[in-house]
Amino acid sequence: MTTNQQIALSILAAIAILGLLTLIAAYLMIGMAWQDFQSRGGSSAASGYALIARALARKCPICGRGAISASLFHMNPACSKCGAVFWSNEGEWMGPVVINYSAAVAAALATWALLMMFDFSGIAQILLPSIATVVIAFAIAPWSHSFWTVFLYLTGEIRPNEPSPSDVSVTQAPEE
Ligand SMILES: [Zn+2]
Repeated sequence: MTTNQQIALSILAAIAILGLLTLIAAYLMIGMAWQDFQSRGGSSAASGYALIARALARKCPICGRGAISASLFHMNPACSKCGAVFWSNEGEWMGPVVINYSAAVAAALATWALLMMFDFSGIAQILLPSIATVVIAFAIAPWSHSFWTVFLYLTGEIRPNEPSPSDVSVTQAPEE
């Protein structure tokens, strides 16, 4: 094994470990948000599988009908069907940007490491990782938006436009 191949393998191993740690962190974050969501009575709204299906279809997490994306990089401000406001806070675009950026950097490094491992030319080592970065960033942008929106819904950032009578009775009960 050449030195280049050793470097490439260690880069790939580092990406794999970082990816695993990211998955564990995401699992814990979503698990905590899910418990919170259920304690607010959200389990009556939609099952976890329904929410994942809505995220994959890029539909509103609340009603599952209105589209989240207006175009590849632009969100609809609110659901066209139920009126729920998707991102009420100014800074919410940061979440998907971090997801896109991390995925693009990982794709670039992994592509470069593979090219180095199989002794591709210097031009290929510059050109192909750049292409991989752009392709990955464009490919996952719509879904980083929709999954982030579902996550915000779980944490209670996104609420139905008009609360149903059962929701009102739950939130008003401790007041008396
Ligand atoms: Zn909706």
